[in-house]
Amino acid sequence: MKNGVDSNCKYLVWTAIEGLGNRMLSLVSSFLYAILTNRVLLVRFDNDMLNLFCEPFPNSSWLLPNNSSYWNDLTQFETSESIFMNNTGNSSLEFLPPVLFLDLFFPHGAHCNYFHCDQNQDLLQKIPVLILRSNQYFVPPLFMVSTFRQDMNKMFPDKETTFHHLGRYLFHPSNVAWERIQKLYEAHLAKENERIGLQIRVYDTHQTPQEAIVNEIVSCAHQNKLLPKFTMQNSVSSPLKNHTSKVVLVVSLYSEYGEKLKTLYQTNATLSTEVIKVYQPSHEEYQNSSDSMHNVKAWSEIYLLGLCDKLITSPSSTFGYVAHSLGGLKPWILQNVHGKTASDPPCQRLKYMEPCFHDPPPYDCKTNARIDFTSLSHHIRHCEDQSRGVKIVNI
Ligand code: GDP
Repeated sequence: MKNGVDSNCKYLVWTAIEGLGNRMLSLVSSFLYAILTNRVLLVRFDNDMLNLFCEPFPNSSWLLPNNSSYWNDLTQFETSESIFMNNTGNSSLEFLPPVLFLDLFFPHGAHCNYFHCDQNQDLLQKIPVLILRSNQYFVPPLFMVSTFRQDMNKMFPDKETTFHHLGRYLFHPSNVAWERIQKLYEAHLAKENERIGLQIRVYDTHQTPQEAIVNEIVSCAHQNKLLPKFTMQNSVSSPLKNHTSKVVLVVSLYSEYGEKLKTLYQTNATLSTEVIKVYQPSHEEYQNSSDSMHNVKAWSEIYLLGLCDKLITSPSSTFGYVAHSLGGLKPWILQNVHGKTASDPPCQRLKYMEPCFHDPPPYDCKTNARIDFTSLSHHIRHCEDQSRGVKIVNI
């Protein structure tokens, strides 16, 4: 043992950055990277993440030991920047370090553009401990590394369920999270004939009027027959026995969305005899990712969305990606709202279930010429909700 590192093993230490959706995407990617490179996966969870998941690996812990205060200051390590700033395969360092901070914080480092190059992966293989920080689902770049691609083809004959399988292996709600999920599911979702999940992520609350978003949601739900249309009459039909009922699970930081939808369905008659209920489990008002209970709520809601029968989600949201991919669902994704009017069409159905990798490298490893990442493999396509982003597909 030197510096607390067993020299017979190689390690990948995952560290957290950004919100829970980003963290879960990068953790799943790290899990796959660890398998492909024969490394032990360890996670450095602060208190804000200790309450979320059960230990995934039988008879061993994935938690980085508490006494590793040694890891607290990541800046003490050599960074991936010094290892692969370019595509030459030549490190600027004379000796490879025993520990390297692999910073895949997209799109902030130019070096991220060369992570998927075979020659850089050869260098990384020689380093016993990698401490990784990423905010992205970096599985598509892994697929571009030739040796990894062969293994991934064998592991995932159905490429579009890569996250689904890895995520369901890795993420089991802790008792605290499970109690919340179970309680909410039984009280509000279990007895309904159908559950429609609605995730509303608004990045710029000043620029995006709530009214326009609600209009877009309603027109998406109506056009795609997820919810019944309103009639012109004002009166609400009296509830009859034997009516089927649907619940809309509204997941948002803001209470207004659940309230507005509830009012719409309480005050307008619909063309159907279905009873429409609206339920929103929380409204945290702002992102507070360093708070443990805030993250338990976020994780519970991600999980509950995945238990719905159909989903409408917001564009570019990693929170939504994790929910739909874990649930094995292809959601209708809302269009970005610009101005006061809803886009037409208001949403589009995802064709491929994998999460989107938002920042594909724009350079070819061999020629260094600018390329479209999708030209490297027919299994890589642009994302439906982010024209720049890419995902792995079957054909
Ligand atoms: P993204 O920013 O949409 O890509 O998703 P992230 O999950 O990475 O970051 C957003 C964070 O804000 C979440 O992890 C939560 O902490 C919080 N948040 C955003 N939307 C919701 C929501 O609908 N419900 C809850 N409980 N938290 C949310």
